[in-house]
Amino acid sequence: MDSCLGVEQDLDKATTKFTALNDHAKKVLEDILNQVQELKKEFAQLPSDTPLSQSQLKTVNDLTASVKQNVFQLSTEHRELHATVSKVGKSIDRHFIADYAAVAPKAETFCSDANRPIMEQAIAQHLYRQGLDEVGDSLVTEAGVTAERGSTFAQLQRCAAALADGDPAPALAWAAARDSDLAHSPLPFALHRMQALKLAREEGVCAAIAYARLQFPAHAARHERQLQAAVCALAWCSPGAPPPPPHYAQLLDPRALGAEAAELFVREACALLRLAPHSPLAGAVLAGARVLPALHDIRAKMSHPHVLAAWADDELPLEVELGEEGGGYHSVFACPILRQQASEHNPPMRLLCGHVISRDALNKLAMGVKLKCPYCPMEQSPSEARQIYFS
Ligand SMILES: [Zn+2]
Repeated sequence: MDSCLGVEQDLDKATTKFTALNDHAKKVLEDILNQVQELKKEFAQLPSDTPLSQSQLKTVNDLTASVKQNVFQLSTEHRELHATVSKVGKSIDRHFIADYAAVAPKAETFCSDANRPIMEQAIAQHLYRQGLDEVGDSLVTEAGVTAERGSTFAQLQRCAAALADGDPAPALAWAAARDSDLAHSPLPFALHRMQALKLAREEGVCAAIAYARLQFPAHAARHERQLQAAVCALAWCSPGAPPPPPHYAQLLDPRALGAEAAELFVREACALLRLAPHSPLAGAVLAGARVLPALHDIRAKMSHPHVLAAWADDELPLEVELGEEGGGYHSVFACPILRQQASEHNPPMRLLCGHVISRDALNKLAMGVKLKCPYCPMEQSPSEARQIYFS
């Protein structure tokens, strides 16, 4: 973030200078044009073939000299502006790391003959998952990639795109077909609310109230406050209504509501269908974007040969919190108690409270039929722990 702010400062300087120069150049050129126009007008009034008087000749000469001088000055200022603009480029180089080769020495293996088809396939899959079918098709045909258009994702993307566009109908149809699966999801109510507000805008508040009467009662218990807010928001939907108070702005802005619903839809639909919300490529990029700066920092600080050996391994030399956006991708599990990587014989076990430890740790901590979680004070029976499988 600091890097962005640093570049922004230099960019602001360049923009300010550019605007000032632009205003100044415009004014100078306007002045010159006015002077030339006036002189032209003055000469046009003279009868033709009249030789110019000495004073008129002097005026023309003076004006020419002034024009030359101004043009020279403008071009100098313009040249100086180039220096400021190129400073922005240098600032980007200074604030950002262009070459991550040192921290990801194996990155070039992505381009090896063996791995390139896998990368291309991942890119094609990502394009299809984003709903960019035509682009994906072009890549598949031109690069000879084997990737299939996933009909599931295409359908989800269509629904999400329609939501972002303000139309909840396809998503409502999708959700209606999975009514019982979505019984505990906030998605159906979010979609019905969007539809009610859409009706209020397009067909009037009465149509929206009729729709709300039909659909809202099923969700009243779980979404009481949101439901109240949605019904109140209808008051600002009638023609000639005053501007809504700020806390209703999000509800009454079709774009904002659509974007929010689209995000919720993708998240809930992927959870229901047990699909990762990101494509493998997007997940890897998100995780990589979080990991690289940390790796770069640690690399800069650790240059001892013994420490460098840590990089030879396939594993990262540090733990990086990927956060929700980066996706909680775990291909291995290390027991936080025994500090050992889980194995088939010592698998990760999820305790009743949600904390996960290895089976060996569980056996060590268990006192007969009682087990106290090492992370929270919850007491439980060791038999209540469930094994976790990574696929
Ligand atoms: Zn616990």
